[in-house]
Amino acid sequence: MASARIPVIGLEVHLQMKTASKIFCGCSTQFGAPPNSQVCPVCLGLPGVLPVLNHQVFLYGVRVSLALGCRIQSQIVFHRKNYFYPDLPKGYQISQYNLPLGTAGAVDLPSGKKVRIMRAHLEEDAGKLLHRPEGGSLVDLNRAGVPLLEIVTEPDLESPEQAYEYLKTLKGILESLDVSDCDMEKGSLRCDANISLKTDEGKLGTRSEIKNLNSFRSVARAIAYEIKRQGELLDEGGKVVQETRLWDDAKGVTQGMRSKEFAHDYRYFPEPDLVPFAVAEKEIEQARAALPELPRQRAERFVRQYSLSLPDAVGLTSSRSTADYYEASVKKRPAASKVLANWILGDLAREINERNADRIEALNFGPERLVELVELIDSGKISGKMAKEVLIESLNSKQSPKAVVDAKGLSQVTDKEAIKVAAREVIQEQPKAVADFKQGKQTTLMFLVGQLMRKMKGAASPALSQEVLKELIEKG
Ligand code: ADP
Ligand code: MG
Ligand code: ZN
Repeated sequence: MASARIPVIGLEVHLQMKTASKIFCGCSTQFGAPPNSQVCPVCLGLPGVLPVLNHQVFLYGVRVSLALGCRIQSQIVFHRKNYFYPDLPKGYQISQYNLPLGTAGAVDLPSGKKVRIMRAHLEEDAGKLLHRPEGGSLVDLNRAGVPLLEIVTEPDLESPEQAYEYLKTLKGILESLDVSDCDMEKGSLRCDANISLKTDEGKLGTRSEIKNLNSFRSVARAIAYEIKRQGELLDEGGKVVQETRLWDDAKGVTQGMRSKEFAHDYRYFPEPDLVPFAVAEKEIEQARAALPELPRQRAERFVRQYSLSLPDAVGLTSSRSTADYYEASVKKRPAASKVLANWILGDLAREINERNADRIEALNFGPERLVELVELIDSGKISGKMAKEVLIESLNSKQSPKAVVDAKGLSQVTDKEAIKVAAREVIQEQPKAVADFKQGKQTTLMFLVGQLMRKMKGAASPALSQEVLKELIEKG
């Protein structure tokens, strides 16, 4: 039996920042334009042109770095990272090397884990290759020069689940900063995963780097696969080689692509066309003061303002859209702050998952509908149990909860007389429970309510049923 091996995981996230123009030229960054329609001599890498740093890119980078608790570099320096690739017209990428914009930050995960951020640096994106099924490839350089911030963790993560949690938490922070649409499908948020196994003596192993990960779920799956692959390889006495591997989502496997390059392969050198500049302490402090409310702060406010538990508040604020949804609903019905949270974290979260929706908006069940559903319960029109079915029906039919209730003729019996009839039957059928209750065993009342509900097929108001049963038993 080989000694236990512990996974070691570090993630690199590339964030496309949503500036109107590219990082070193005035070309538009608009997504989805016709190929090669947003290019100029600078981003095409023609000789003799000069790049100029887009100040907004720098400000966005500072904002993210500060939100991640990073120190900001006092000197901003860019480097050329040299490599050849058909979508990289200059033959090098302008990036940051030994002086990244942000260093030494951290992200606190809801589970309590702290993930250290090694660096956050600015760079330009490359173009995009389009491999045609009939053979040959086309290049679209619209993306060349789109601003990126690369956010790199220390190898602090230990499981696929933790990697997933980190990405969710990071995305929540990034969304709150309004610097990117953080859309993995459009490629504005991309992740590479580095994985190795270490022995319990603590010696780090050789890592592989996985690319081509296009959802948080595939990141977790690929890491799990890679942990297993490397473990089996080591068990057989083999060696993990440092390489870049591609994730095949359909097959659920990683495949070797190329041996991983080392930093010295890139022949980094300072970009001579961009003058280094100093960052004033005052500028950083201004940016820090202007930081918006971050998810963690928002969660703490939710606890104070809406009397929620911290775990619930953290759950609600883990994504900006969910937090906005919650606040919009609670505004309409402040008294239901906890009930609304429960619906969002329970039934709605489950439906988002089951329907593979990536965010709450995709359910087409706006906050006003959730409020309507809660009002139907509070007014006694339907029971909580019925409401769960109304929700599903409302999601499926895209009709409002009220419309569903009306269309199906649903309504909970709040007619005291009808409940009384059923209650009398229950009392007759359950003499033992009734006697127990009379002896002071309060819990049997719930049993009797349950029996009554069964009789009325769940359509009786639970509160009224309880009241009627109690009344009848105490009287008789
Ligand atoms: P590169 O450009 O070579 O990928 P980076 O510094 O951009 O290097 O990223 C390296 C990533 O790999 C970081 O997230 C780091 O935490 C992670 N890493 C470094 N060593 C290991 C290791 N032995 N196992 C797993 N991950 C590692
Ligand atoms: Mg890398
Ligand atoms: Zn350009």
